[in-house]
This record gives sequence, structure tokens and C-alpha cells, in this order.
Amino acid sequence: MKILVPVKRVVDAYVKIRVKPDGSGLELANVKMSINPFDEIAIEEAVRLKEKGLATEVVVVSVGPAKSQEALRSAMAIGGDRGILVETAETDVIEPLAVAKILKAIADIEKPALVLMGKQAIDDDCNQTGQMLAALLGWPQGTFASKIAIDGGVIHVTREVDGGLETVKLKTPAIVTTDLRLNEPRYPTLPNIMKAKKKPLEIKTAADYGVNLAPRLKVLKTTEPPVRKAGIKVGSVAELVAKLKTDAGVL
Ligand code: AMP
Repeated sequence: MKILVPVKRVVDAYVKIRVKPDGSGLELANVKMSINPFDEIAIEEAVRLKEKGLATEVVVVSVGPAKSQEALRSAMAIGGDRGILVETAETDVIEPLAVAKILKAIADIEKPALVLMGKQAIDDDCNQTGQMLAALLGWPQGTFASKIAIDGGVIHVTREVDGGLETVKLKTPAIVTTDLRLNEPRYPTLPNIMKAKKKPLEIKTAADYGVNLAPRLKVLKTTEPPVRKAGIKVGSVAELVAKLKTDAGVL
């Protein structure tokens, strides 16, 4: 069973995001970038399936500027076997539909039994690419997976839904998107980081897959969230209740 894992290079989860002064987007100059955390969980899961003998090959793919090679090398240091970079210009804005179309073209060529990907990219928070890819391919999908069990050609995906868990049964080929509790990704070891540098990495363009990257959406404005007012400490429960009654008016 071949597994395709799409990985996106995004602003590191621990970096404080700054909006550009003209509101046209986020400040990305000199900002630490990393592999999207949900994609790291997807690659970890794919590698565990390979270690259990349930997968034969893990192919990692990224759509983005040349520097996205770093995200692919990180994914290969965790255990991906080879990478495909669909290189775009630094200034290109890549929307989920364009990524889904490219991934569909790659899936048509690579014929994976499973595409294991993040539920969302933490930069745009779209939560769309997996669902769009499932629709384009006409494959079943299990989103927000907190557990994956494979039994022959059937994948059981436990999903985190409002108020509990739901388990769906998918026939391969299928799309599964990862939630936070699926696993804890390992730290790549130094020998594996060195090995990853030598793993095959193909460089392609969107045109190679017949996909037009022109955006269909226009971002009108990006703004910082309103600054929260400082809290106060109360001395007693009675004071808290009084403040909730009089100041907050919620009691
Ligand atoms: P999104 O729909 O943008 O929130 O992204 C959901 C998932 O789609 C991510 O976690 C990735 O697995 C995949 N994805 C999105 N954009 C890209 C990209 N440019 N390259 C590779 N994978 C991507």
C-alpha cells in the first residue's frame, strides 16, 4: 500500500504572527517556517503504518516555493521515502482548490491507496484541501482522524466530532485527514536527518499537471484581533459574584 502525504510549509506554530502594515496579509520576511503541525502528524502516522508492515512506500509532496524543500526533507527525516516538490513562485498565493487539483493529478499518476494529510494548514486555517481532493477523485474521506486502523482494503477511522467520537469505514483508495490526538510525532534523529538529504526529490511545476494557479479569491483586508483588556484579581468569592452582577451584568 502506497501512502501519499501532502505537507505544507507554514509559519512556525510558536511564532507570533504579525500583520503587514498595509493589511495585505501576514509578514513572512525573516519569519521561522516549519512543516504544518497536522502534516507532521500525518507523516508520523504513515511511517508507523510502514513500520507495522501495512504500507510499502510513503511519498511526500508539497506545493510551494523552492524553500518548501525544507518541509519535504523534514518529512523524509521522519521516514518519508521520496519527495515531490511542485515549485511555485515566492509571490504566488496558492489556494486549496489549486492544491487539490495538483494532488489529484499526482494521485492519478502515483495511484496511492491512501492520501493522509492534515485537517488544516495553520496559516490559512482553510480546512478544505482534503475534502476538495476527495470530491475531485471521487474517493471516500475520513476527516479529523484521532485513530486509524487498517484491515485489508478497509480503513477504520475514528473521528472527533461534536460531543464524542464516530468511527467510519472506508474502502481504499481513500483520503484521511489528521486531528491533533492521532499521535505525537517523533523528533527526527541526526542520522535520519542526514539520510533524508540523499532521498530522491523530484521538482515539478503546476503546469506539468495542467493546473492554473491563478487565485479565485481576493483577500480584502487582514487585521489583528482586538487587543484583550487586562484581567483583574478578586479577593473573594463574594467580590467575584458582585462583579459578575454589577460590572459584567451576567448574573
Ligand atoms: P487547508 O485546506 O489549506 O487548511 O490544508 C489542509 C491540508 O492540505 C494541509 O494540512 C496539507 O496536508 C494539505 N495542503 C494544503 N496546502 C498545501 C500545499 N501548498 N502543499 C502541500 N499540501 C498542502
